[in-house]
Parts: sequence; C-alpha cells; structure tokens
Amino acid sequence: MDKNHVIAVVPAAGIGSRMQASVPKQYMRLFAGGPCIIEATVRLLLNSGLFDAVFVAVSKDDGWIQQMDLAKAQILRTGGQSRAHTVLQTLEAIAPQYGKNDLVLVHDAARPLVCIEDIKSLVTKAKAVRESSQASGAVLAMPVSDTVKRVSPDDIVTEEVSRDGLYRIATPQAFGIGDLLLALRDNTSVTDESSAMIQAGHKVAVVNCQPTNIKITRPADLGFATKLIQDQQHSAMDLRVGLGYDSHRLVAGRKLILGGVEIEHTLGLDGHSDADVLLHAITDALLGAAGCGNIGILFPDNDPAFKDADSAKLLQAAWSKVQQDGWVLINMDCVLVAEKPKINPHLPAIVANIASLLGVDPSRISVKPKTNEKLGFEGQQLGMSARAVALLQR
Ligand code: MG
Repeated sequence: MDKNHVIAVVPAAGIGSRMQASVPKQYMRLFAGGPCIIEATVRLLLNSGLFDAVFVAVSKDDGWIQQMDLAKAQILRTGGQSRAHTVLQTLEAIAPQYGKNDLVLVHDAARPLVCIEDIKSLVTKAKAVRESSQASGAVLAMPVSDTVKRVSPDDIVTEEVSRDGLYRIATPQAFGIGDLLLALRDNTSVTDESSAMIQAGHKVAVVNCQPTNIKITRPADLGFATKLIQDQQHSAMDLRVGLGYDSHRLVAGRKLILGGVEIEHTLGLDGHSDADVLLHAITDALLGAAGCGNIGILFPDNDPAFKDADSAKLLQAAWSKVQQDGWVLINMDCVLVAEKPKINPHLPAIVANIASLLGVDPSRISVKPKTNEKLGFEGQQLGMSARAVALLQR
C-alpha cells in the first residue's frame, strides 16, 4: 500500500504591517543573536520529523529569504496578494508531485511556539477523521477561556456572547491536498484554510493545542514569544563538563610539540604518536564531556596507523565525532606542567592553534603553564603532564 505523504506549507509572503517594523515580521529576530521568527518556525517543523517536505512560500521580490538558515526547507516564490492566494499558488505548484489524498499542513510563519506534540495529535486526528469520513481535516485551536462580549465602535458593550463551544482557530491546519486545492480555487477571500474548506461544504475537526501557540502579530506578541523561547532554550540546554589528563616521557632526539606547535628544546616527548601531551589531554576532555569514549579507544597506541601520528589530526577527528552529536564548545581550560623550556612566550601561538583546530574563538581557550618547582617527574624534567577541562553545550 502506498504510504501517504505528509507535507507542510508555510505561507510567508505577508508584510506584517501591524508590527510597524522596517522588515516583514517573519524576518524579525526573536532576540539578539537568536533566530528570525521564520527560522524558528521552519526549523521546528523540520525537527519534528513529521514531514516528507517543508515548503516556504515567499513573494517573488523577497530579498531576505536567502539569508535565512532554513536547512532542508524548499523555498518557492509563489507568494500572492493574500495568504489564500499564496497557499493556492503554492499548492498549484507542488500538487503534481503528490497524491490528492496526501496530507498538507499549512502553518503560519509567525507561530514559532507551536508544540511538536500538538502537531503530532493534529496529524493523527486529520488522518482519523478523513478515514472515517467524519470530516475532511483538522485544525489546531484553543478554547476561549475569557468572557466574550460584542463591543460597538464607540467602545460600548452591545451583546453578551456565550463562550460555550467557542474556539480560537490557530495553525497548523491539516487537509487533503486535493480537497484544499479545490476549495481555494473557488474561494480566495478567506483568512484561513479551514474557512475555505467549510465554505466548500467540508467538515473540519478541531484539536486542542497549548495556549502558547500564539501568532506574533503586534510588538507585544514578539516580547512574549521571546521570553517563552528563551525559557524553553534555558530549560532544554544540556551542559556537560569533561576532564582530560596525559603525561609523556622526555627523551633526547625527539621534537617537542605542545598544542600542535613545535618548540625549540634539547628534549622532546616520547610516545607512539607525536606525544603532544597537551592535545591529548584536550582530546580526552572533549570526548569525556560528550560521552564518546577516550583517546586510547579511538586511536589505540598499538595500531601502526597512529605511529608518529599528528595529534592535531587525532584531535580534529575526535572533535568532529563530538560535534556530530550536536555539541558546541563553551570553553576549554588547560594546565601544562613543564619545568623547561619557558612556555609563556609560545602561548599565543599554542592558544591560536588549538582554537583554530577546534574552530572556536581563541577567547574560549586557556592554557596555563606551570613548573613543578623541581618536584616529581615534571620537576625533574623526566616528563611533562597536562590537564584539560572542557565545557560543552547542546
Ligand atoms: Mg598521550
């Protein structure tokens, strides 16, 4: 049996005049350094894993969309003079790729706070009501909890309105592609898809959603959305700390390489690889923080492949494994214990090299050289040791 596709369409051709801003509201940032509204909305749809494709419909002369980070979303320049025209023109463009019974969810670009769980419930409900012929689709909606009254233009209450059974209709709205296309071809004077469907004689079911699924329309909405998103990010933030330690013997006839930088000295560190004690500690700190094992597991010292290996390459391989799990480095702090030579003059080069290997700003990397006051193997110049602490976030 053919699997029915589920796709999303995000109409984003509006100019959002109620926002009184110099850019259309979907291109306003939720907070400094954060995503634009449309980026947050589209990424949420993509991250839900519910859609075979996510289409973003913008106007022909939109000059902002190409600056957005919308990952795998497909951009179509099918914007029209109203939301209904935009959705209609988008469906006309993509319908040939899909079956008429495939499900399309139309979602406002300015609703970045919709819950993925609510979208899942919507898809399930839309499929169920279509299968049972109870309705032709479903929409997310919020029951009205305030007292409702009709008010005249001169601000006088003219009518009590019972809130029983009243809902505020939100998005996404889920319908069969074929049904919605026909309904919109007949009627583009509507403000949402459910109105077109109902006016075309279809029944539409409602799925309760979280009241936080607000549409950012006015400046106050943006402030509210910003606070909610920052709270969500804060509670979802995963921080991990990792500790790395390494030591190597000092011998004659070997290069001394610390933090990937070759340093003039009478002795060098001995080991299977280039024995860069600092990079080894750093590598283990990163792997440890991410729960990705350790340097000895990834690069065994009895494997001929790693004989005299460049530790910078080992670090980069380990770091890319950690990054693939979604981690970013907040900072790295290291202690290098070496009696001689003096390390401080080489510090800028060492820090710059570590930062460049990890692709971060040098301000996130700290290396503190210590002598050991002639105590222990480091103090007696038998070897060097290094410790590193890494803080990761995702
Ligand atoms: Mg080592």
